[in-house]
Amino acid sequence: MYIQHLNISDFFLNSIMSEPTDNNTINPFSVALKQLDEASKIIGIDKGMHDVLAQPKRILIVSIPTRMDNDEIHVFTGFRSQHNDARGPFKGGIRYHPQVSIDEVKALSMWMTWKCAIANIPYGGGKGGIICNPKQMSTGELERMTRRYAYAIADIIGPHTDIPAPDVYTGGKEMSWIMDTYSALKGNFVQPEVITGKPLAIGGSLGRNEATGRGLSFTVREAAKKLGINLRAATVAVQGFGNAGQFAAQLLEEMGAKVVAVSDSQGGISNKNGISIGSARAHKEKTGSVVGFPGSNSISNEEILETDCTILVPAALENQITKNNAANVSAKLVAEAANGPTTPEADEILHKNKIMVIPDVLANSGGVTVSYFEWLQNLRREYWTEEQVNSMLDKKMTEAFSDVYDTHDKYQVNMRNASIALAVGRVTEAIKTRGLWP
Ligand code: GLU
Repeated sequence: MYIQHLNISDFFLNSIMSEPTDNNTINPFSVALKQLDEASKIIGIDKGMHDVLAQPKRILIVSIPTRMDNDEIHVFTGFRSQHNDARGPFKGGIRYHPQVSIDEVKALSMWMTWKCAIANIPYGGGKGGIICNPKQMSTGELERMTRRYAYAIADIIGPHTDIPAPDVYTGGKEMSWIMDTYSALKGNFVQPEVITGKPLAIGGSLGRNEATGRGLSFTVREAAKKLGINLRAATVAVQGFGNAGQFAAQLLEEMGAKVVAVSDSQGGISNKNGISIGSARAHKEKTGSVVGFPGSNSISNEEILETDCTILVPAALENQITKNNAANVSAKLVAEAANGPTTPEADEILHKNKIMVIPDVLANSGGVTVSYFEWLQNLRREYWTEEQVNSMLDKKMTEAFSDVYDTHDKYQVNMRNASIALAVGRVTEAIKTRGLWP
């Protein structure tokens, strides 16, 4: 055991220092900084304020020794990046993925700050993650790892300081374990408001599960009005069939659009005549993937981005639309369900080609918006109806879209720059109003 302990620090350092691999050679934090630079120029903030926003306020790196099913101990590395809390507690998800890195969580936490400011909800931005492959772990291993991570970050999270939520490959199950561990550690009474995205049985909100996809569909509806797109005649391609991708596809289908291609980590499928999302989901539940769905052609995760369609929804990971393939995007509208799917170079190409992008920090902000509703219900010990949640979400998303669109009009910049400029303006105003102490 002692020898293993010595090895832990090597592994720990290696995993922190190692560069992102594979398709993730573009550093997401450099992308986030570039976007911040652009936005700062647009609204003219001073260097000091820019520098405050260019770094997270705090990052915690934790080692997570976990007993695996074969009785060996495996030490995972986890992070929690707290970017900014000028407008309210840090807020943002926790992801489980082999490609999680310190720069990825830094970028994602900055994007959460912008997202909450655009949604105009009283939160700042945070993000957490564990470097792991949850698909190769048993439920018991996941539970022990999650609880140990919750214990490791317990002192920096809390209902009024930092409120985590689900993200890539985490969901209600993980949120329950974190809520239970935190509650047991911090006074041993139930504290549902420490985390959102919980199952209904322990204070989750109706509508939270579908919220990211539903919110995205509202922003698509608003963008379609501006662009003169008839959703009943529109076609949709969705890269990524996790929580956000599935519900985005389903809700756009409900609005009358035809989904012609979807994909997941195993590959993609297409059908010009339309893919029934309910049946594709059932196929994925049965077989583990959308691949092989009867009546469809198979396509790759790269090809899906170039599908002939009206609306493209990247709903997987970062850096999917890059300078190498942006010119081949044929959609009129890109609605980003994923965080960071488009690089700054690709943004310019899409803008030049008159393709509107509803940026991640706007398009997928429905998730955190309903997280906010969940938190309010928990603090007040209330339960709201699904209709109430959905109509409040619609109002919030419509307002956020219109605020970003007006900013884009005012400064004559693309929707990404407009959204971040709007957010930076709101956050800097909060920082200035509070002042520096001491
Ligand atoms: N992980 C989601 C996001 O990236 C939800 C965050 C939350 O609900 O706090 O927006």
